[in-house]
Amino acid sequence: MIHETPHIVVVGGGISGLAAAYRLTQGKDGVQPRVTLLEADTRLGGKIRTDMFAGLPVDAGPDAFLARVPWAVALCRQLGLEKDLIAPAESKTWFWTHRRLRRLPDDLVMGIPTSPFSIARTGILSPAGIMRAGLDLVLPARPYGPDPTVEQVIGTRLGREVVERLVEPLIGGIFAGRADHLSLAATAPHLAQAAKKQRSLILSLRAQQRKKPQQTKTSVPDAPAFYSLPDGLGALIQRLAEALEERAVTVRLGTQVEDLTRLADGRYQLVCSDQTVFCANGVILATPAWTTAKLVQSFAPAVAEELAAITYSSAIVVTLGYKPSAVPGALKGVGFLAPRVDGRLLTACTWATSKWPHLSRSDLVIFRCSVGRLGDERGLQLSDEALVQRVHSELEEALGVRSQPVEVRVSRWERTFPQYDSGHQERVKRIERALTACSGLTLAGAAYHGIGVPACIHDGEEAAQRLLGNLSAEMTK
Ligand SMILES: Cc1cc2nc3c(=O)[nH]c(=O)nc-3n(C[C@H](O)[C@H](O)[C@H](O)COP(=O)(O)OP(=O)(O)OC[C@H]3O[C@@H](n4cnc5c(N)ncnc54)[C@H](O)[C@@H]3O)c2cc1C
Repeated sequence: MIHETPHIVVVGGGISGLAAAYRLTQGKDGVQPRVTLLEADTRLGGKIRTDMFAGLPVDAGPDAFLARVPWAVALCRQLGLEKDLIAPAESKTWFWTHRRLRRLPDDLVMGIPTSPFSIARTGILSPAGIMRAGLDLVLPARPYGPDPTVEQVIGTRLGREVVERLVEPLIGGIFAGRADHLSLAATAPHLAQAAKKQRSLILSLRAQQRKKPQQTKTSVPDAPAFYSLPDGLGALIQRLAEALEERAVTVRLGTQVEDLTRLADGRYQLVCSDQTVFCANGVILATPAWTTAKLVQSFAPAVAEELAAITYSSAIVVTLGYKPSAVPGALKGVGFLAPRVDGRLLTACTWATSKWPHLSRSDLVIFRCSVGRLGDERGLQLSDEALVQRVHSELEEALGVRSQPVEVRVSRWERTFPQYDSGHQERVKRIERALTACSGLTLAGAAYHGIGVPACIHDGEEAAQRLLGNLSAEMTK
């Protein structure tokens, strides 16, 4: 039973940990805990990082969040940032494949062509690939395993080319992962649902699309798909840090938690790299799964094993600034994706100055280029200089960029994207079930219920709610 003000420690100051700490400060059922946030790095934000690039706030990690899920927009509203939200100026996406840029038709759903005719015009699929995709309309239903991969479902229905050239660059791009590993249900639940509903995926998606207007009667017809902030997503971190300070949360940077133990009285003891020790009634671990695994090892070895089994991929964001004269032609769109089958170093390139009105400047064109995915660590092995040269020469080929960049930045994100492989959702359920034995301890972060910024915010908030609920029950015992 807890008599004094309960103390909760949040470990990890990425967006999940920050959202959790912020939610904790709002209390619940009369429980108003004292909150401490411990962050290993010398800055908050984790993967969210905005640095100045040629005098402009250019994100080194995520540069936008999904607008159609509510959590990030709702948090911005609570923090007074909603009025500042900005939408991309462009929406068109291109594919760099078969030696040139090819525009994606608007009727694709996560890369799945709902009309074989529009995809035929793009030249992305071969005639045989288009015919194979069309077979989805007539092929009989096939049984899949319990949690099929993206490739197993979409490859079976529409063929290998659709997977390799359309779907993997889109779904795999979000996770820097591979279609033959990622679970369809965990990474694209609406596709998994569509695949379950009808024999033909194309017909099922068409039916989903027909239903949409009735389901979203209140939505604005051309509502933006993504949002960002004029000073980059780092502004959200900045505002959260201020809000935590206003609410008397103790935030300690450069404080890596090295050891976590469960005390006999049910509280937790945390030992940090600088040998400071914290005692807490509740702990939220908002750290990557591989770190969390080490922290829970001593008192929950089975959970640690499950957490350690969540694999991660690495990526690098190479940001290049060119004089406008170096870039021939207007860039109409947000950028391009490059399918793995083509063997390029680039996986994607965002045309930052065309995409974001706040980055548009007459004397600079900025490209944010992504390199690396699961199983492709070629970029990681290159020095920054060699990497910049390789990326530049691929831009020469893709866009006809002529002279060298005038500004460069390399942001390496090693072991960064959790892979939601087949079996992921069941694994997370097992972790959660096993953790019920560790009252007062809960997890949050990209490794569990969604990798995007809004999902991480939601996960952090849910973790805080759970812990407040537990504490409230303890206090009224
Ligand atoms: C290049 C890139 C592009 C992306 N693009 C998008 C996008 O456009 N849209 C989108 O929605 N999402 C995007 N994402 C995904 C999204 O940014 C992340 O999934 C999300 O930010 C993860 O947040 P998190 O708080 O769960 O984890 P993290 O940001 O990893 O935070 C974890 C924190 O824990 C700290 N930590 C670790 N160990 C310890 C310890 N022992 N003690 C104390 N602290 C510790 C770390 O230093 C870190 O700050 C992108 C990610 C990357 C890398």
